[in-house]
Amino acid sequence: MSCHLERPLDHETWRRFRRLQDRFEIAALIRPPHYGEDRALWLDHAREAAAHGPLGHHTHWTSPAHARPTGGDPAARVREEAEWMRGQGLAPTLFCGGGWYMDEEVAETVAALGYTDCTARGLEPCRVRLPSGGLLPELPTTHSIGALVRRRLGPYVHAYFHDYDLLDAKRRFALVAGLARLHRRERASGSEPLAGPERSFSEAFER
Ligand SMILES: [Zn+2]
Repeated sequence: MSCHLERPLDHETWRRFRRLQDRFEIAALIRPPHYGEDRALWLDHAREAAAHGPLGHHTHWTSPAHARPTGGDPAARVREEAEWMRGQGLAPTLFCGGGWYMDEEVAETVAALGYTDCTARGLEPCRVRLPSGGLLPELPTTHSIGALVRRRLGPYVHAYFHDYDLLDAKRRFALVAGLARLHRRERASGSEPLAGPERSFSEAFER
């Protein structure tokens, strides 16, 4: 289970996220700060999330509210954010591209940073063969909140939600029901990279 922390500075979403993270194992895929955002508060929250579960890096390329890139060098942005986080003593292990965006250069960068990627959708865990010959470990995202409640759960489930989903009572109840459903399955949980079949970049990200 992972949460895309889109609004890591918002008091109410943060409070609700932390309350849930105390009850269930949830990876915090946090959006690094954009220009003008309060970095000290961001760091407090990122450190607190990292103390309670796996930490991940969730890039929004264009703005806090516009995830996919509209220009610039997407891979460079990921590298800069990662270097800044590491400089602050944070050690994210997971990555998810905002708006599910991925390109070959971003994938190479994510692999070079030692991250396990979560941007692919609906697959089993795998390793993505990159143009450089390297392998990117992939723990694909498989279920939204709605799907977690309604759909069949296969042996591998990686559900996700957004922090702002927690502001909506209906979504919040659905999510807790889904988390409880996952919990009952008594299967291994975690966010460690698993071995898995090799896939090409286009098999993983261009389906
Ligand atoms: Zn996002």
